[in-house]
Amino acid sequence: MFVGHYGVSYAVKRAEDSIPLWFLFLAVQLLDVLWAPLVLLGVEKVRIVPGFTATNPLDLYYMPYTHGMVTALLWSAAAAAGYRWLRHSASARASLLVGLAVFSHWVLDFVVHRPDLPLYDNTAKVGLGLWDRPGVAFGLEAILSLGGLWLFLGRWRGRRPGPVVFGLIMLAVQAYVFFGPPPASPAAIASTALAAYGAFALVIWWLVDRVPVPQTP
Ligand SMILES: [Zn+2]
Repeated sequence: MFVGHYGVSYAVKRAEDSIPLWFLFLAVQLLDVLWAPLVLLGVEKVRIVPGFTATNPLDLYYMPYTHGMVTALLWSAAAAAGYRWLRHSASARASLLVGLAVFSHWVLDFVVHRPDLPLYDNTAKVGLGLWDRPGVAFGLEAILSLGGLWLFLGRWRGRRPGPVVFGLIMLAVQAYVFFGPPPASPAAIASTALAAYGAFALVIWWLVDRVPVPQTP
């Protein structure tokens, strides 16, 4: 899953306004943000197999450190603790929500991935395989990302056009990933993904977190 993950960040932002949205953008993708450099270093492995799934050619055959269920739980706990440590003012509820945002990545990946997500180490792999049903997979990404955005905008008091246009651009990027040409190499997919996560977080900071929002009267 790609842009659907951001639906969770919008929903958490609505529930707990004290957490910066750019930070939640990175939290929901943390497992992939860690995955990309590990692929570039050759620690975790992916190969490009054209036609491997109906929506993308990624054979993600070795990623126990980032996408194992147990390791994902550990990263989530570390993120929750790290948030509390970095932000002394953070409530227990906010840090718990950060941890849940991180773990939501694994849960949503479980829905779309082939059985390539190990429960522990590199074994007992699971995944419901929705990537093999392009229309359903794309619909899910759209419902999650735009549904989360809609939830967020229901409470946000800033100007709406920017986030709405950005939400649609993100969905267009998703369409390109699913229906455009396959990536050239594992290094290309890892570095492009990392750049996209960084760029998305930067744009949402610019559109939302940077903007002083009038207080509710
Ligand atoms: Zn992932």
